[in-house]
Amino acid sequence: MRKIHVITFNSKKFIFIAYGFVILLAIMMLNLVFLTSLTAPISAFSQGNTEKVKLAIIIDDFGESRAGVKEMMEIDKPLTFAIMPFLTHSTEDAENAFKNQHEVIIHLSMEPISGKPSWLGPRPIMNDSPDDVITKIVTDAFDNVPHAVGANIHMGSKASSNEKVMNSVLNVIGAHKCYFIDSKTSEKRCAMRIAGEKGIPCFENKFFIDSTQSKETIKSQLKKAANYAIENKKSIAIGHVGPDGGAVTAQCIKEMIPILEEKNIELVYVSDLLK
Ligand SMILES: [Zn+2]
Repeated sequence: MRKIHVITFNSKKFIFIAYGFVILLAIMMLNLVFLTSLTAPISAFSQGNTEKVKLAIIIDDFGESRAGVKEMMEIDKPLTFAIMPFLTHSTEDAENAFKNQHEVIIHLSMEPISGKPSWLGPRPIMNDSPDDVITKIVTDAFDNVPHAVGANIHMGSKASSNEKVMNSVLNVIGAHKCYFIDSKTSEKRCAMRIAGEKGIPCFENKFFIDSTQSKETIKSQLKKAANYAIENKKSIAIGHVGPDGGAVTAQCIKEMIPILEEKNIELVYVSDLLK
């Protein structure tokens, strides 16, 4: 009896250990599934993307704040710099961007639905700005931001949904044979349609990558933009110098470049998307 008792105990012990092992294995498998889901954007890169695709990164808000300007200028891959006109460093940033082989566009300040008036900077285009005033602002902006080949919008959720305003803005953009990027700050935007009617190349931004100091978030947004490029052959993403991003955004772009290149995602100017 005693012997049987011992054997029975050992069997129970064995079953107990076996159950423990199975549970441990199950936990490990669940962890693996969880980790795979966390890194899903990375694994999505690698699935048969043998064809080169294009990603254009625009960096907004050049012209005043120095946060991240030097770091962005030093990136030796094509980037497109959106420079606000009529600010302390507008012309200097445009000249330096051109010298460092980055593309220059004008970052036109337009009236938003909400936001501090101080964020608009000098000479913003307001919802009730008359046509001749808008024409003068955009024309002067081209003088103040040399080498500009396009334009996009700073803020602007209100004025960029006003057809009359966008018509005046796009007339000057068209006269300069430039392209326009609708940053999609308004649901009622009309730039794409009006630009199309005037034969002006127009793009829509797909992803904002920063407005945070979290490297993890910025890199994750860059991966989303890259995945969109893989699926659609091309993509546009917008980051910032100044307090909305700056040096941390530049650092993330630098660190992501080899990963993007390995996945056949080529950084290009916005104008390269026309080719
Ligand atoms: Zn801006």
